Amino acid sequence: MDLGFTAAEEAFRQEVRGWLEANLAGEWRHKGVGGFREEEETDLQRQWQRRLHEAGWLKLAWPKEAGGRAATPVMQAIYQEEMARAGAPIILGRLGVTLLAPTLLVLGSQWQKDTYVEKILSGELIFCQGFSEPDAGSDLAGLRTRAERRDGHWILNGQKTWSSGAHYADKSFLLARTDSEAEPHKGISFFLVDMNQPGIEVRRIKQMTGGGEFSEIFLSNAVVEDRDLVGEPGAGWKIAMTVFGFERGGLAQAARFERAVAELASLARERGAGSDATIRQKVAQAQIEAHVFRLIGLRSLTSAQQGKAPGPEASLTKLYWSEMDKRLQEMAVGLQGAYGVLAPGSPYAIEDGRWQYGWMWAQAETIYAGSSEIQRNIIAERVLGLPRGR
Ligand SMILES: Cc1cc2nc3c(=O)[nH]c(=O)nc-3n(C[C@H](O)[C@H](O)[C@H](O)COP(=O)(O)OP(=O)(O)OC[C@H]3O[C@@H](n4cnc5c(N)ncnc54)[C@H](O)[C@@H]3O)c2cc1C
Repeated sequence: MDLGFTAAEEAFRQEVRGWLEANLAGEWRHKGVGGFREEEETDLQRQWQRRLHEAGWLKLAWPKEAGGRAATPVMQAIYQEEMARAGAPIILGRLGVTLLAPTLLVLGSQWQKDTYVEKILSGELIFCQGFSEPDAGSDLAGLRTRAERRDGHWILNGQKTWSSGAHYADKSFLLARTDSEAEPHKGISFFLVDMNQPGIEVRRIKQMTGGGEFSEIFLSNAVVEDRDLVGEPGAGWKIAMTVFGFERGGLAQAARFERAVAELASLARERGAGSDATIRQKVAQAQIEAHVFRLIGLRSLTSAQQGKAPGPEASLTKLYWSEMDKRLQEMAVGLQGAYGVLAPGSPYAIEDGRWQYGWMWAQAETIYAGSSEIQRNIIAERVLGLPRGR
């Protein structure tokens, strides 16, 4: 494992820092982190995305022929880490930018690349992800939304759920079954669906945070043209796996943890618990876990730098950070004693209830992008080689 950075990498870090100093206004920092807390933040996230795009950052990893900088995995990690460290907002079209655009670059048609990629990056077109269904989450291959050819179009019927940002998305990248006779993984196709059409109804789901950032999508004879089918009919599963391959964690998360642990220590001091041996022990434990997470990130980075594709060890990273964040948030809420139960926004809540909000949000982290149970199954079977469970 390589624990150091080269002079060129350190110079790149300074470049990112310098740009952030000049472009990330103070009031934009630490907004939209950990979910959308306020409606008005979506506007801020859209503006931030445009600014990043204009500066070329959203194409950092792209090949030079596609206008990118062909950044190495280490440079990408440095960029993510500096963004997290500065508390930069999360961009509004993050699913399109991080998952769909790179997938279209590899597997999309020329028309799809020409029509969508630039608009996805600039934030002109916001995409949501329509994969999960009420009975198909972890077992995604069990999805039942159907797409049939009728009068020269694809006609889609079914229901999606937990679709983040669907209520403001212009389009969705969505999986539907086009062949019910084929094996579950083989009869699925990948579509780009216009959200603003009569066949689509979006119903927001109210979350326990008080927000409503994800929705159910009902498709009743929704229409998709052939040009919006990505790849061949039946190739949807393979394309979805490419999409998942672009989901990352790593050093950005480590930087967030380190900042959170420092804030936790201040909170403990402010609450007069700085000399409490149990609390001190817990803060020290959190510090150690944050450091271990950084080392896990560096190990993945070393292997990416050596050209190795992310393997099942990626499950270890996801399991570790999501479970750790839950522990951190729980500790912060616990430190507040009776104040810990106050809702975010209450005039009596400490720091406007941001830790309570963080605690509620953290409950989702061990579910999305593969739940902890699913990650443990993968680690047991594919890392440790244990027999398959029933
Ligand atoms: C904040 C958030 C945002 C999301 N955004 C999107 C989005 O934009 N688009 C989208 O398509 N989806 C999205 N999802 C959905 C997410 O992908 C699913 O919630 C996830 O795949 C789990 O599926 P499920 O909710 O149907 O739970 P289920 O798969 O029904 O699982 C229920 C429970 O059973 C456990 N379980 C399931 N199978 C096994 C097994 N084989 N062995 C052991 N335990 C098992 C799970 O771990 C879980 O605890 C989002 C979810 C969240 C929380």
